Amino acid sequence: MMNDIDEIVNKFQEQGYKITPQRRGIFEILVGNESHPKAEDIYDALKDKMPDVSLATVYNTLNTLKELGMVNVLSIIEDNSIRYDPTTEVHDHLFCLGCNRIFDVERDANERDFPQKEIPGFQLIDRTQVTYYGYCPDCQKMRKADK
Ligand SMILES: [Zn+2]
Ligand SMILES: [Zn+2]
Repeated sequence: MMNDIDEIVNKFQEQGYKITPQRRGIFEILVGNESHPKAEDIYDALKDKMPDVSLATVYNTLNTLKELGMVNVLSIIEDNSIRYDPTTEVHDHLFCLGCNRIFDVERDANERDFPQKEIPGFQLIDRTQVTYYGYCPDCQKMRKADK
């Protein structure tokens, strides 16, 4: 979970990583970010104010954050993308097939009705995440307007 910059900086420093302005810029983009950005999105957001940042730096920093358990990585088959999620608590996702945006779903883990009878003997762990597919309200409006 990435709540504030200082927490991330401390964790990086504890592990012996240097805090460069580029890394700090990446942290700033991720804190409180609910858009599930791709590495390219982070790079695009950063490169205007930091022309010396490279996509490789963004990837390296994201990998380190992943190793430290501060971001979750989502692999999206529909648009063949890897997304980064600074909200690491278990939660479900809605994927919009129209605009490829991902939205968080808050749902109590106890309320999940997993079809246990259909996979007898399979042991679930508490990191189960579900992705639902559909169209967001914006895309539904556009689809109606197209008709
Ligand atoms: Zn949409
Ligand atoms: Zn999420």
